[in-house]
Amino acid sequence: MNYNSFAERCVEELKVLQDKFQEDFDVDWYQNWFYNQTTGLLTFSTGETELNFKYFQVGSFSQKSNTWKWSWDNVHTLDNVKETTKQIKEFGLKSRFPKLTTGCFPSDEYEAWEFTAIAAKLTNGICVYRPVNDEELQIFLVITELVDNEIAQKIKDRYVQCSAHEYRRRAFVCQHLNSTRKVGFEEAFETFEDMELSDEDDFQAWCDDCETVRQNEGEWNDRSMAFAQIKVVCEKCYFEMKEINPGHR
Ligand SMILES: [Zn+2]
Ligand SMILES: [Zn+2]
Repeated sequence: MNYNSFAERCVEELKVLQDKFQEDFDVDWYQNWFYNQTTGLLTFSTGETELNFKYFQVGSFSQKSNTWKWSWDNVHTLDNVKETTKQIKEFGLKSRFPKLTTGCFPSDEYEAWEFTAIAAKLTNGICVYRPVNDEELQIFLVITELVDNEIAQKIKDRYVQCSAHEYRRRAFVCQHLNSTRKVGFEEAFETFEDMELSDEDDFQAWCDDCETVRQNEGEWNDRSMAFAQIKVVCEKCYFEMKEINPGHR
């Protein structure tokens, strides 16, 4: 198989995909778009109406240096949205297509689209998208599937914007826990940093005083909850609070 004819075919197939996608979802109608590496979601919205998709980041083209960089070679791209691009590299290795296996090299915008078309073809993408946010660095995305709005909201709800740590998983703590004073640290279950959580689990912790009230009440009820005044923090903050209570469980 010849690289150029393969790339050309992918571009042709992409045109069909793009037309179908526009027909199915009419994304041009939406006023805003937003994508987030942490959730892996691309959201189009107008007011309350939104459309959510799963995506991955193929790579980026720098207009300043005229170079293409695959996401698998980019340390600034989160695993969550670049894992899939390893498939493209593997295909490139098998097919001996050096452009698919070199992390970063001189290129042009047309080729960037070509790479994105190849990525869409190899991963069964339903569309590609280039958000226009930075004139110098163009980001190329492949959209892989539609995500039901309710599910998308559940995914988004699991994260919070923290003023100190940016966008992180949420955690729940009582009003007394803080990262400067030792007040005890009781947890719903044993935790460690960056651990995976199932959909039903959240990081939850409370102080010694809250534990006393909870034990007196025999459970988390209106009274013990009123005392705890649970608040939401980011997971980094959570582990900072845990850190200053060493040896506590
Ligand atoms: Zn407390
Ligand atoms: Zn934080």
